[in-house]
This record gives sequence, structure tokens and C-alpha cells, in this order.
Amino acid sequence: MDHVGRLRRLWSDVEREDLDALLVTHLPNVHYLCGFTGSAAALLLTNRGSILFTDGRYRTQAREEVNGARVVIARKSPLVAAAEWLAGLRRSSAPLSVGIEPESMSVGMRERLASRLRGRARLRSAPPLVESARMMKDADEILRLRQVVELGASLFRVARQKIQPGVTELEVAAAMEYEARCAGAEGMSFPTILASGTRSAIVHGRASGARIPRSGFVVCDFGVILAGYCSDRTRTVHVGRPSREARQLYAAVLEAQQAAISAVRPGVRAAEVDGAARGVLRKRKLDRYFTHSTGHGLGLEIHEAPRLAAGQTLKLEPGMVMTIEPGAYDPGKWGVRIEDVVLVTSSGCEVLTPTDKELVII
Ligand code: ZN
Ligand code: ZN
Repeated sequence: MDHVGRLRRLWSDVEREDLDALLVTHLPNVHYLCGFTGSAAALLLTNRGSILFTDGRYRTQAREEVNGARVVIARKSPLVAAAEWLAGLRRSSAPLSVGIEPESMSVGMRERLASRLRGRARLRSAPPLVESARMMKDADEILRLRQVVELGASLFRVARQKIQPGVTELEVAAAMEYEARCAGAEGMSFPTILASGTRSAIVHGRASGARIPRSGFVVCDFGVILAGYCSDRTRTVHVGRPSREARQLYAAVLEAQQAAISAVRPGVRAAEVDGAARGVLRKRKLDRYFTHSTGHGLGLEIHEAPRLAAGQTLKLEPGMVMTIEPGAYDPGKWGVRIEDVVLVTSSGCEVLTPTDKELVII
């Protein structure tokens, strides 16, 4: 769907919420709705159409990128300009009801906004309308996600070549990131995680100056951004001959991941997918080592809805794209995680990440 279509569909959601306008301040939402990727923006949806407020630094970029919205270059901040535009509307009998995105608006921003509105509009926290729309990827987004997942996944080849005892985690990450840039990535979707030996038990163990030991797991979790979309993949390798216990740990996490992937289909609740992974680890008495949720949506952001975790009642629908990434971590000892990206289809799911998952021994 193009930006005009997205804006039109969102406007009907805004009207259903009994709002006269919606002020979009979360930048990935602005990007999704009108194509603008600058760092200063407020997108206002009204019954007179949509207006993107940005500042003079983005005059050229806005002209090139924005679709479906009028562009106003603000002399002050985009937020203040949006407020003044709203305050300048011909007065109706009642104040306008303006929805804001509470998760991306600081208390200071809200106060500034309210003072410029001079009582002509009432601010109301809107439900996550754009986030809900973004959960369902359209054909163009799915194509972009396929491309970025493929590019991101290819970096594992670099990791395999580079990981050796004595090499620092940062050296491995640097080689992967260099390769990503050369292949056209706009950047990494998050700081590359390279956690070796006992550091593998740190769930978000960013690459450090630590040298890869002679023996133990190395968790590699990495992703790139291409055409605005993020990838995310984790593979865990073992340096040196793995013990029987290490092989069993890896096999258990892999079985949990496959159980979760098998559970993904339309109509299934997010919590059930999480439960499928957790159930396998519980049988192996490893569930207490699985300390995070099973997965997350991804797209323009590395973490977006839905969340695959206990208590999440949201039902999966075709077009949702998410990671499946169970893990097990014993602090100070070892950690294993395996992560792929899946697309919910009409009958189940398609794994977008290349699926080789045998334990790689270096
Ligand atoms: Zn990841
Ligand atoms: Zn992830």
C-alpha cells in the first residue's frame, strides 16, 4: 500500500476514536505514514488532509521523500508549528480533540504543545493506531523484509570465518559490520551482540574487547537495516569440542525454537507461541534459564508489535513478521540462543531466515 493509502486507512481509525486530529510524533510512524526519514518531524492528520511539519535542515529531503502529506517548514520546532497551526484553525464551538502518541511524547513536549494550543484543543492519549497498522506488513514491506533478512543472514558467514580463539569479539563484530556496509546496509539494526565463553550467558552481551576463549559457546546476534527495514538473526557456535552437556543444551534450545515455529499460524495467540518454546525447555528442566520472551515483531523498528510472551492475548494474522528466538543462559557459565524471522501465512508460517541450524563447531 502506498503512503496515500496508509494515511487514508489511518484517518478512518482516527475518526473511529472520535478524534478531530492525530499528532504523530514517533519517527518510525512518521516514516511509515508519509515516507519521511528525517529526525525532526510531527505529522498531523486532520479532516483537511495530512501535514508534515519539519525544519529548514530537511527542506530538500522532505520534498524528495514525503508522499501524501503537505510539507510545512517550521521556523521553530515542528511540534510548536503543529500546535500553532491547530490553534489558528477557525474556532468551532467546542475545542478540538487531538490525539497524541503518549509513548513518544515527553512531559515537556506535552506542556509546550498545550501552552501553544491556548485551550483551542484538548489533548488525549491515543491508542497505538499506527503501531497496530504496522503489524500487518503489505506486499512491498514483505519484499523489503525478505531482502534485508537475506543480507543480514549472510553476515554469519563472516562470523564463522573470523571467530577463532584469541580474536576479540569486537574484531569479529567489526568484520561483520564492514561487510554489511559494503553490501549496501544503511547501518546495523542494533549494536552487534557477540558474547563468547562465559559472556554468552549475558543475554544482550554486546561485542567487547574480550578474547574468544579456546572452548565454549559464542552467541552471535546481529541485524542490518536496508531500505528502512531491520533484520535480526542469532546463531550460537561452539569453539572447541563441545561436551555432551553442551550438545544437549544446544539441541534443547533448537527443539524449543522449532516447537515455537510450528505453533505459528493465524488465530494462535502470541502467548501460545511463547508457551510452545517454554514447554520444551521445561521438559528438559531448562525453563528457569529462559529469561526473556520468545520473539518480537520487526519492520521499520527492530522491536515492534507483536510481542510473543506470556499473557499476550493478541491473535496472529497473515502478514505479521516476527522473530522466534528462545534461549537458555546460566550466568557465569554458558548461553545459547537461536533466532529466525518468520512471516505468518494463511496456513502457518514461512521462515525467512536461511534455516541451517546444526551446531557449528569451530
Ligand atoms: Zn536478535
Ligand atoms: Zn530479536
